[in-house]
Amino acid sequence: MLVNHSAADKDTLLIIDSSPNSVRILNAILGEEYRVIFSTTGTTASVLIKTEQPKLVLLDVDLPDMDGFSLCQAFKNDVATKDIPIILISEKQEDESREMGLRIGCADYINKPVSPAEVKLRIYNQLRIRRNEDLIMQRALYDSLTGLANRNLTLDRLRYAITHDLRRGLLTGLMLVDIDNFKLINDTLSHDVGDQVLVELSKRILQVVREVDTVGRVSGDEFLIVLPGLHQTENACQIASKLRKAINKPISVSSGGEVHITASIGVSLSPLDTEDFKRLFANADVAKDQAKCGGKDSYRMFTSEMNDNVHRRVRIEYNLVRALSLDEFSLVYQPFIDLKTNEVVGAEALLRWNNSELGSVPPDEFIPIAEQTNLIYEIGKFVLKTAVYDFLRLRNFQGRLLNVAINISPQQIRKSGFVEDVKATIDEAGFDANRLELEVTEGVLLSQQMYVKDVIEELHSMGAVLSMDDFGSGYSSLSYLLRFPFDALKIDREFVDGITDVEINETLATAVISMARGLKMRTIAEGVETQEQLEMLTSKGCDLAQGYYLGRPISIDAFREFLGLSSHETEPQDNDGVMAQK
Ligand code: C2E
Ligand code: CA
Ligand code: CA
Repeated sequence: MLVNHSAADKDTLLIIDSSPNSVRILNAILGEEYRVIFSTTGTTASVLIKTEQPKLVLLDVDLPDMDGFSLCQAFKNDVATKDIPIILISEKQEDESREMGLRIGCADYINKPVSPAEVKLRIYNQLRIRRNEDLIMQRALYDSLTGLANRNLTLDRLRYAITHDLRRGLLTGLMLVDIDNFKLINDTLSHDVGDQVLVELSKRILQVVREVDTVGRVSGDEFLIVLPGLHQTENACQIASKLRKAINKPISVSSGGEVHITASIGVSLSPLDTEDFKRLFANADVAKDQAKCGGKDSYRMFTSEMNDNVHRRVRIEYNLVRALSLDEFSLVYQPFIDLKTNEVVGAEALLRWNNSELGSVPPDEFIPIAEQTNLIYEIGKFVLKTAVYDFLRLRNFQGRLLNVAINISPQQIRKSGFVEDVKATIDEAGFDANRLELEVTEGVLLSQQMYVKDVIEELHSMGAVLSMDDFGSGYSSLSYLLRFPFDALKIDREFVDGITDVEINETLATAVISMARGLKMRTIAEGVETQEQLEMLTSKGCDLAQGYYLGRPISIDAFREFLGLSSHETEPQDNDGVMAQK
């Protein structure tokens, strides 16, 4: 063996040739540009190729100890050497041996005697092809910003790790790290700062994990970490909490100043959660979402319960899409009682959904989903139309026409054409706008204030009654209220609940009621469940009340009966009580 030592940082070429003369010539041609190592036998070459990992092999087919074709085949069959390009050199001119060489996987074929220019060019070409391939590979498997494995490579490593660990009886951990509010950093501080943050975080993650772990960047702001060979669940927890600490340290950015980052981390384990790599990834994602919902800056281990929740959500969403056309929605009505006269003056329409697969699903569960999926618009139209027709000619025992209140989601208010739709529906039915109450929550006021204000004002000038729902449960700021023309304020159940036993709530209720009166707003107390609460509210000057004590939400037919009407009549019947009792 002969090594040209002066060329340590050049690409290495391995020349396998039995003739010292050829070796001398090739060395003269190539020694300048490459680090050239030689072997005169196949046996030494088989060792050298592995220890030296040359970029390319020049192989003479006529070796003393073996046939060059077989040696080439052996290199191609070995994972450690199969990707190294081999150029065959032969004295034989026949096309057959050239073809043979190419067929077993040689990159090229040169005839002896060699011309320096030809050898150089062919080697150069092969190395260039290889470099391009490497570049393509790099791009296909790695993330260009951070240099981390990309999604495909990470998932491939995961799949391999799971199979390997299963055989060894060990756990494979998977960790999905999602940077909280990353979009905000990009939007407010620039993409450049966003990139710096990602690069810094990738370095920190690499410092926390072990050598055997794979860290990948799987989307803009998500890192996926494969943790092979874990012995117990705690190992994953330890890594997750170390990771959180590393991420939370402030990051200095080139534009000056520091950025504080938190992340939500989801962890899943094979085979405890699943042995399937795709599902393991999905589980880590579910756990990550839970960490986000739970206030971010934390990690969560996946539990099958989480999947049940996701599964239920999926079932709700799936069935909700069809619910309208399958006629699965209905409305129930809960009366409002005037506390001065004890008359029923109206009712709140509350949506009910009875699905063939899921049974009765509470509105608190399906309405948020309807809102997120935009199904709320069509559902809202159904509610309005049904309520308006149910109440078209409905009068109380004293013969006064009743109001109907419907709940409006913020999404509906923000959708263009909402006011026109409402107007069209009531006009078509001939329903007086003054009898329609629209209940909206404070949430609606938090975004796009100007637009929302316009819509609320339009509804107001149309004649509809606007009620602020759930007052006292949210952000409740008086300054908000003053900006919008609300007619009524519904005091939240939580507030009413404490009235009889907690003095402070009594004081607050008094304040709310007198404040509303100052603003010329009507007050409606929700969730009245006892006689004491009712008396308290009456004494404080509350205008209306609603609650189980006064009447539960019931179907329109039951509601007519409750008013003292038979189910098809519109006029009151003989009845001994004015105020409806529960
Ligand atoms: P909400 O508007 O605050 O409706 C009042 C909720 O309190 C109703 O629950 C009602 O059944 C319940 N409730 C009434 N009196 C009492 C009482 O004395 N004690 C107790 N513990 N609860 C009482 P429900 O029907 O489950 O509705 C829940 C929420 O779903 C509603 O809260 C509303 O935000 C939403 N929702 C219901 N129907 C619709 C609808 O048609 N459209 C929209 N957008 N949301 C709706
Ligand atoms: Ca309501
Ligand atoms: Ca309410």
